[in-house]
Amino acid sequence: MFAGLPLCWAGYNYYPPRVARKGHFLAKAAEWRGRTNKIGLVSTAVCDHPEISTILRELRAMDYRISVSSLRLDQISDELLDALVESRDQQIAVAPETGSDRLRRVINKNLTNDEIVDICGAVFDRGMLTIKLYMMVGLPTETQEDLDEMFVLVERIKDRMLEAGKKIGRAGKIIPSLNGFVPKPNTPLQWDAICDEKELKKRIKYVSKGLSKIPNVEVRFMSSRIAHEQALFSSGDRTVAAAIDAAARNGGDLDRAMRETGIDPAFHTSRDRSYDEFLPWSIVDSGLSFEFLKEEHEKARESLSSLPCPAVEKCTTCGVCPSTWLADAPEGLIQIQPLKVREALAAAV
Ligand code: SF4
Repeated sequence: MFAGLPLCWAGYNYYPPRVARKGHFLAKAAEWRGRTNKIGLVSTAVCDHPEISTILRELRAMDYRISVSSLRLDQISDELLDALVESRDQQIAVAPETGSDRLRRVINKNLTNDEIVDICGAVFDRGMLTIKLYMMVGLPTETQEDLDEMFVLVERIKDRMLEAGKKIGRAGKIIPSLNGFVPKPNTPLQWDAICDEKELKKRIKYVSKGLSKIPNVEVRFMSSRIAHEQALFSSGDRTVAAAIDAAARNGGDLDRAMRETGIDPAFHTSRDRSYDEFLPWSIVDSGLSFEFLKEEHEKARESLSSLPCPAVEKCTTCGVCPSTWLADAPEGLIQIQPLKVREALAAAV
């Protein structure tokens, strides 16, 4: 539905932001209403759509039960929460990402713990007492204090849930989902190594053990091995293809496949890369300039956040504009382009 946030692979690689045409989207929803009463809004930034209020109102008027895949905490609106409550969706997923404000700035997420607790409180006050929290372990520059702050944050969210639950006589559940951080191509952290596998395992174990001691908390976590496999598939060069092919033939044993093909996974995943290195994905033109990614990387190392894509006329910050324009948008999509968005949306309805 929408893309363009400065945080993750999708955030960088889908620049500039684009939105689904309201009229096109609602026409499809109306067409399908006879066959289902459920509709899922899938996007990296549902509430950034300039006409999300109208869309929600019209979907509710069609008597749809609305759900969303996961919500960016900084974009949860009262309207969306009301729509989710009305849809009897009793569990929502949000992404605080980590436990400390400092580390959140490294990944360009500018919410504070206080704001996160307040937003979760708004969810609980509407009777939705179970919330899933996506969190990452092994982020660049992560310290012991950052890990310990996860306990404090989850404890505060749990307390807020119990406070809201008391008023209606029931308690919910906080479900932190821990994932190892995997550096992704064409993002500012593409030059960084993934946290060492044993160290990542140790940190995930430490956090999951600490969180599981908190009442009303049910921890889920990804193994450090899976994170390392993802890192190999994300950042490996063309030689890794031989290992994937061998694994496909040997029943999925990737370790054996790497031994047989002589692939050293550490070369692809576990070393910081220099700015001079020609990266395997440099042949893919995402539109983002090297200078922009480098500058964002340097800011991340200093825990400095950046402003999101401003979508203003003549911006050349990241290098993507003005190479793409409305005429290039696939059917049903409008790119939010400098000052043209309102006229374009109006014309598209
Ligand atoms: S050039 Fe500016 S407006 Fe265009 S996508 Fe990049 S940051 Fe956004």
